[in-house]
Amino acid sequence: MTPAPLPELSDTVRLETHGRVAVLWLDSPPVNGLGNTVRRGLHDGIAWAMGSADVDAVVVLGRGSAFSGGADIRQFNTPAMFERPLSRDIAAAIAAGRKPVVAAIHGVAFGGGLEFALACHHRLATPSAKLGLPEVTLGLVPGGGGTQRLPRLIGVERALDMVQSGAAVNARRALEIGLVDRLVEGDLLPAAVEFAAQAAARGDLPLAATRALPDAGIDFAARRAAVAPKLRNALAQQAVVDCVEAATRLSFEDGLTFERAVFERLVGAPESRALRHLFFAEREAPKVAGLPAGTARRDLREVAVLGAGTMGGGIAMAYANAGIPVVLLEREHAALDRGMDLIRRNYGVTVAKGKLSEADMARRMALIRPTLSYADIAAADLVIEAVFEDMAVKREVFARLDAVCKPGAILATNTSRLDIDEIARATTRPQDVVGLHFFSPANVMKLLEVVRGEATSQEVIASCMRMAQDIGKVPVLVRVCEGFVGNRMLTGYWREAWFLVEEGASPQQVDRALTDFGMAMGPLAMGDLAGLDINWAARKRLAPTRPAHLRYSKVADRICEAGRFGQKTGAGWYRYEPGSRTPLPDPAVDAIVEQCAAEAGITRRPIADQEIVERCMLALVNEGARLLEEGIAQRASDIDVVYVNGYGFPASRGGPMFWAETLGLERTLDKIRALERVHGGHWVPAPLLVRRVAEGQVRFDA
Ligand code: NAD
Repeated sequence: MTPAPLPELSDTVRLETHGRVAVLWLDSPPVNGLGNTVRRGLHDGIAWAMGSADVDAVVVLGRGSAFSGGADIRQFNTPAMFERPLSRDIAAAIAAGRKPVVAAIHGVAFGGGLEFALACHHRLATPSAKLGLPEVTLGLVPGGGGTQRLPRLIGVERALDMVQSGAAVNARRALEIGLVDRLVEGDLLPAAVEFAAQAAARGDLPLAATRALPDAGIDFAARRAAVAPKLRNALAQQAVVDCVEAATRLSFEDGLTFERAVFERLVGAPESRALRHLFFAEREAPKVAGLPAGTARRDLREVAVLGAGTMGGGIAMAYANAGIPVVLLEREHAALDRGMDLIRRNYGVTVAKGKLSEADMARRMALIRPTLSYADIAAADLVIEAVFEDMAVKREVFARLDAVCKPGAILATNTSRLDIDEIARATTRPQDVVGLHFFSPANVMKLLEVVRGEATSQEVIASCMRMAQDIGKVPVLVRVCEGFVGNRMLTGYWREAWFLVEEGASPQQVDRALTDFGMAMGPLAMGDLAGLDINWAARKRLAPTRPAHLRYSKVADRICEAGRFGQKTGAGWYRYEPGSRTPLPDPAVDAIVEQCAAEAGITRRPIADQEIVERCMLALVNEGARLLEEGIAQRASDIDVVYVNGYGFPASRGGPMFWAETLGLERTLDKIRALERVHGGHWVPAPLLVRRVAEGQVRFDA
């Protein structure tokens, strides 16, 4: 008798039989996300196998590079997410049958992918596989039984560590802790088929769900209390502790219901929406719109950095940390020694904290070669200039680079505000000149603004975007303008902070209102940290172009005129005790503020925190919309990436543009118009915002 033909399952799950073992292939590239069609295919395939007289066992594998990367997060908050069968229906189909189901894992089993594997009877893994439940990183808890099955399989404390950190374990560790049954060194498919057939022969059908869960005596309340409220995913971290606690207190079924309810609460909450927005935004940011397919990328094997100051040293460390050799060039011995000492001290601090071994520090130091000679940078593939912020100095340096560097070398400047096109014109190869705007400390901060000049070639842009990712940065492509994206937006943000102080708030109130909102630092304390003199110089440079009809606060200028440049002079918007970075209120600042207010005819008044937050945020948003319209930024989500990764904007709010979209573009516009009525000219709404509202759009990006 010929066997009945195998059923077609879905577009994303394929069924084969190998002897008396049914094999289900997850086939939804690139990572076999468990969207609605995969869930249907899996469910129907398992149900078919359980009912088929020709099948004794089931093996599930992933096609391509992974078993499964988890739920399909693009389907979150869409009807597809709620479409049955859900993961619990699939688990029920496994539990209802009397045949072993084996998950054969290669690549990754993350999130929903691992939850499915946990619902199987057995798990096999290749030695290079990684397993984890990273849901908390997206502001979620696992919603498919992960928090209930994992503690039953590997113990409460280990499970808590895994779900709360979201970190993956490698296959060997997974074997040690009982997360997988066996590692498979050779071909996974035949080994899994063989394993499944033997399990069927033995009638070996263990399920995590049926295991007892010994109370490990964990203090769950303490665990929750230890979650810092400022963490981007604080809510989710606390909620995941709740779920594991529920696993120890409730029946398995009630625990599942509890977990699912928590998942559904979080998936609709602002924190997770914001974190998922950023997840996609950071993956989108490195993409260059309109880049011709096949654009070549240059190999950047040797890097040179000019200037061993604050930025140059940090940039050199960023490359050494990625294993890339760097030549560090200075103009004089003393500065070079100072720079190298600072790098050594910085690494030393990391070693002292136990986060870097002495040997690794030595390896990194050996990758940084100090020099005073331009001859030593002639062979560099990428040169990054980080000398003084002075156009004459930069032009002189670039003319010299033009003469010395090999053809095809990328010549980059780390300037914060200067015109990159003018710098490029000091060379005969402006197509090779680009801005690489690192943020301080450059070895730590993830953001890199890649600034394309009018002549910068596509190849140079593409090479820089890839290089940034190679050294672990998040690149955002921007065009030339005063301050590029991040610092240009800061201008309006600071302006409002100063106005608010002049109108009646104290510097401490302004900073506290914004740190309560979630900013890592308040705008005034941040100014003190960065140094107020830099911005003062820029204001003086731009003074002739300032429209006379716009209000201007003199407070920041007066503070600088008093020699108060921030932390480095022990005083700025605050005063600082010697050797301390703690901002302390200073009556001298209050006196300056009152004087300025009196001169401007302002009657100071009490100001609510909400007004502070709204004015500072709306200033960011309005300028962001202008940058978008001018094409300085490629996308609104790029602006969010800039602010979260470079300016301490709370990730749990998704970035300034996402914040406005969450508020609603129409309400955002209404609020800006209301401010325009009271405060005038600075608040003319960005035309793009007006247009988006008129079109009925809810997003900035079309
Ligand atoms: P810095 O004063 O700490 O360091 C500049 C270094 O360049 C000094 O060590 C100096 O000796 C050296 N130098 C000067 N002229 C040189 C030359 N001709 N050849 C070689 N070396 C020379 O300054 P910084 O804060 O590191 O800033 C450097 C650049 O980075 C500036 O363009 C600045 O705008 C930009 N930047 C600074 C920050 C920041 O937060 N400090 C952030 C982003 C970008």
